[in-house]
Amino acid sequence: MRRIAVLTSGGDSPGMNAAIRAVVRKANFHGVDVMGIYHGYEGFIEGRMELLDLGSVGGIIQRGGTKLFSSRCPQFKEERYQLQGIEKMREAGVEGLVVIGGDGSYRGALALTKKGFPCVGVPGTIDNDIPGTEYTIGFDTALNTVIESIDKIRDTATSHENSFVVEVMGRDAGDIALWAGLAAGAESILIPEEEYDIDDIISRIQHGVSRGKKHSIIIVAEGVMSGNELAKLLKEKGNITTRVSVLGHIQRGGSPSARDRVLAGRLGAKAVEVLLEGKGGRAVGIKNHQVYDYDLEDAFTKKHKADLSLYSLSKELSI
Ligand code: ATP
Repeated sequence: MRRIAVLTSGGDSPGMNAAIRAVVRKANFHGVDVMGIYHGYEGFIEGRMELLDLGSVGGIIQRGGTKLFSSRCPQFKEERYQLQGIEKMREAGVEGLVVIGGDGSYRGALALTKKGFPCVGVPGTIDNDIPGTEYTIGFDTALNTVIESIDKIRDTATSHENSFVVEVMGRDAGDIALWAGLAAGAESILIPEEEYDIDDIISRIQHGVSRGKKHSIIIVAEGVMSGNELAKLLKEKGNITTRVSVLGHIQRGGSPSARDRVLAGRLGAKAVEVLLEGKGGRAVGIKNHQVYDYDLEDAFTKKHKADLSLYSLSKELSI
């Protein structure tokens, strides 16, 4: 291959820039050009791209967001737009594509590969919900953002002897809630993967109060219910008044953590290696500290499993 392209798609995550940089530098190292496609699949369809040289990815390793911008592009599910994009790429001499994004973006990458245009997926999402990789790029930074916020909430909660409900991202996967809950010492964690027991949550808060605790922190993943709904439930069922904090999009921003930068570097470089070996329809991931590639289809036909041992551990540690 002489020329490949890279795009970012779906929800952005901290570390996407570091991954773009790795793709460009690794490909250049092997004498291969990289075109940067703007606005995800929207730009792919229109051939909106430019050559990324070594210098063009300088100074972005520490920046959140994505230099190439991202988009949701529903029409990309239609074959005619996929073919139109492939045509644009061929006209520009592009022979393969690295897609940095979540499982939706991977579906697009597989569709292109099946049409003869090889693609490799790099997991970029804060949700940590892509099967086949233990970690996704952005998860660690999002976690650190959540923990930092909870630490601040805890300060004010203690001063005013309040209980707080903190709503975090995670529609289908509870990883952020789970890890942040354990790291921040939350009393209770509500995640989509586990049934919650409102009486247990109430009795944990009451138990804390009876042993002189000045505050409680309850973390709820948005996929379970909203923070306000949970606060209402606690009031109705246990007559417990809580303050609610919805962390929202701050979880997606910020300078990537060291872990995310290293992961982005390793996975971005691996994606280029895989493409240059002539393989398409692959995803890259990390397992037992090793980067590897696997069938792209596995990333959305298999199911991501949160580490539920953390759930039981957090219950034991927050008595
Ligand atoms: P995240 O879930 O972290 O936001 P994602 O990559 O899963 O990231 P989606 O919005 O699901 O985000 O998908 C991103 C884009 O991928 C879509 O806007 C669309 O352009 C493309 N895409 C999604 N599903 C398909 C599909 N079945 N076929 C082709 N393209 C698809």
